[in-house]
Amino acid sequence: MDPKSRMQAKADLIICDSTVERIIFKNDDSVSVPGASGAEIAPEADEVIDASGLVVAPGLVDVHVHFRDPGFTDKEDIHTGAAAAARGGYTSVVMMGNTDPRCDNADTLRYMKDKAASEPIHIYVTCNATMGMKGTEMTDIPALCAEGAVGVTDDGLPIMDHGILTQVFLKAASCGVPVSLHEEDPSLIDNNGVNRGKASDHFGIGGSPSEAEYSLIRRDLEIASGTGVCLDIQHISTAEGVEAVRQAKKSGLNVHAEATPHHFTLTDDAVIAYGTNAKMNPPLRTEADRQAVIRGLCDGTIDMIATDHAPHTTEEKSLPVTKAPSGIIGLETALGLGITELVNKGYLSMMDLIRLMTEGPAAVYNLNAGYIAEGGPADILIFDPDAEWTVEDDFASKAHNTPFIGRRLRGKVIMTIASGKIVYGK
Ligand SMILES: [Zn+2]
Repeated sequence: MDPKSRMQAKADLIICDSTVERIIFKNDDSVSVPGASGAEIAPEADEVIDASGLVVAPGLVDVHVHFRDPGFTDKEDIHTGAAAAARGGYTSVVMMGNTDPRCDNADTLRYMKDKAASEPIHIYVTCNATMGMKGTEMTDIPALCAEGAVGVTDDGLPIMDHGILTQVFLKAASCGVPVSLHEEDPSLIDNNGVNRGKASDHFGIGGSPSEAEYSLIRRDLEIASGTGVCLDIQHISTAEGVEAVRQAKKSGLNVHAEATPHHFTLTDDAVIAYGTNAKMNPPLRTEADRQAVIRGLCDGTIDMIATDHAPHTTEEKSLPVTKAPSGIIGLETALGLGITELVNKGYLSMMDLIRLMTEGPAAVYNLNAGYIAEGGPADILIFDPDAEWTVEDDFASKAHNTPFIGRRLRGKVIMTIASGKIVYGK
């Protein structure tokens, strides 16, 4: 299954080193094969993987992960983050830069890149938009892009200064990299991570209103207009926010949006039920918001599924809801949640789900990933779309902070291949 060419066929993939060398289509009337040349016999191979009955797709791409390295490696590090990604079917991930030190300088960026290079999957680095993520002084975006940053972001914090944000948009546009924005206006929030409404009432706190997100999205779409920037609205959570992106896309703005598995699966009921393990920024919203996120995924307004994989220690998540940090892990449950919540419930075809988890994000971040083609990278996910499983607390991630433990999911990763090597499964 290749979402880029929309090819769905029975075929053998011949992998040589880190490349898909040939695709040999099988004779089967039930499949659509653009450009198929008929059945051939696969040549002798060193190793044969029998994937009959399974789906072979491009390795998944997640453009929003926190591997906490450097600085917070009691939560996660680049090695355990990579293992969690591989187990979840991901072969390319993009790390956020809210590390310690912040990724606002070439030394930190090089440390992250060098450590990432020793992992068997592709791990990309973003640089911060502003020094120390303080929102007051722009980083040296061209220099950091020259060092390999694939995007610019202060994820975790919004950039409130219009002038600085305009400069960031112009500079990133000139470097050809996207700017990813965490859209929550702090002046409207009284205790983040919990939606204002029944959930904040339950805890007796002010919470984070949907207006904090959509007001900033509207402002930033306005600021982006005319700068030429490629804009990524991260982890979109509100109906009004989705609508703002929909209209901006119609008007021709180069804007994209991410949805997380938790925002298309859960509502603010979950933070009442699971407490801090369902506390995240932006928070889980209402059922109407969740439905709007799903509609956005269906009509192309939202063109990426990203996990916002955000590990924290059990001690941190044991704190009261006002003190515990926001965020949940996501890499090892994303595919199962996508199949269970979006495909099996009839919202998306399997092809469209896979596109949102591969080609969609790869295109925004200019990654050579997210497709299967002759001559392309041998980054492959093999999964069983019908296998049912229960999420257990046995993660490859260091962290356990997720409300999904114990949940029944359909669709299971069987094997992940990155650069032609098996990195998970078998
Ligand atoms: Zn964020």
